[in-house]
Amino acid sequence: MSKLTEKIAAFCERHPRVYNAVFAVENAFKKTVFDCRECGQCILSSTAFICPMRCPKQLRNGPCGGTLPNGRCEVDPDMDCVWFLIYNRAEKLGRLELLTEVQRPHDHRLQGTSAWINLMAGRIPGVKVFSRSRRGKARNKELGKAEQ
Ligand code: SF4
Repeated sequence: MSKLTEKIAAFCERHPRVYNAVFAVENAFKKTVFDCRECGQCILSSTAFICPMRCPKQLRNGPCGGTLPNGRCEVDPDMDCVWFLIYNRAEKLGRLELLTEVQRPHDHRLQGTSAWINLMAGRIPGVKVFSRSRRGKARNKELGKAEQ
């Protein structure tokens, strides 16, 4: 992020009303669209826009290896394995390559804070741009073949 975004983040953090307003907008959008769990360290763009914090084990580098043969979760068989869903969508979007990047562990001090403001402050890694690059597609094919 830039000096400007850092200044905007610092301004928000000095003014609780502004901070809360930004966080309310972020939550309204991300809870509705992504079922966001407010981890404050968003990696949606690396996980095919499916929130990994919905996993009962909150795995940010999944899957755990306990996915049931039908793609359900071993902890809660009534739900699909979140990482099964992430993998399938990443394959469709040509973003499998992003799943090979190791994500930082969740910093629990950021739980319940605004990921948008944390991003502007440079506290968390940047967003992976949504694109289906030729390199991404080719790598996707390679990874798909390796799975077979
Ligand atoms: S901020 Fe965290 S909990 Fe919310 S959508 Fe992003 S990864 Fe999921």
